Amino acid sequence: MSLRISEIFHSIQGESSFAGWPCVFVRLAGCGHGCLYCDTRYAEEEGSLMELDDIVRRVAEIGAPIVEITGGEPLEQRDSLLLMRMLCDRGETVLLETAGFLSVADVDPRIHCIIDLKTPSSGVSEKNNPENVALALARKRLCEFKIVVADRDDYLWAKELLQSTGLPDVSTVLMGVVYGRLDPAELAGWILSDRLRIRMQLQLHKYIWNPAQRGV
Ligand code: SF4
Repeated sequence: MSLRISEIFHSIQGESSFAGWPCVFVRLAGCGHGCLYCDTRYAEEEGSLMELDDIVRRVAEIGAPIVEITGGEPLEQRDSLLLMRMLCDRGETVLLETAGFLSVADVDPRIHCIIDLKTPSSGVSEKNNPENVALALARKRLCEFKIVVADRDDYLWAKELLQSTGLPDVSTVLMGVVYGRLDPAELAGWILSDRLRIRMQLQLHKYIWNPAQRGV
């Protein structure tokens, strides 16, 4: 069994409650959802086929405290579910980063799911899959949610969603800015003023390295 892989690389996890940990990233190729602020368009290219055993071996060779399966959209390739199980069975701490358009119901419960909630400025917020929020509210998966905000309208949309669902009561919610589009200090002010019980985050890797650099 194989997966189409865009790249496998060693970096610092930059956007989740695991931010700061050295991490092996397995970036699967393919997505096509067309988020307007996508910063990994190259992952839409075809990528190279790799056997699951070879991916697991490569992850072990690099050696890091955590491994993240990302994309593109990893759940579009169903064998990613098997890869994640194989990595868990080896005792790895495994993160899945997904755009949140597909349900995580079939993902192994040992996986830490980092699920985007796409805001209106992404152009695709209507594709957010409500089943993922429902799974989190029912505490059926290890989920945290990531919201990227480009402007005040995005923020108000997110605030309404969080308050109407009560999501911050059951899951970690991380909110950050679209790099270069919104001043982080402005977002921090809104969060504090509204007393939101969420975590603010910056895309750590973009402050360590050149923000346009691939493979970080
Ligand atoms: S889901 Fe992710 S990879 Fe796909 S277009 Fe949106 S930001 Fe880019």
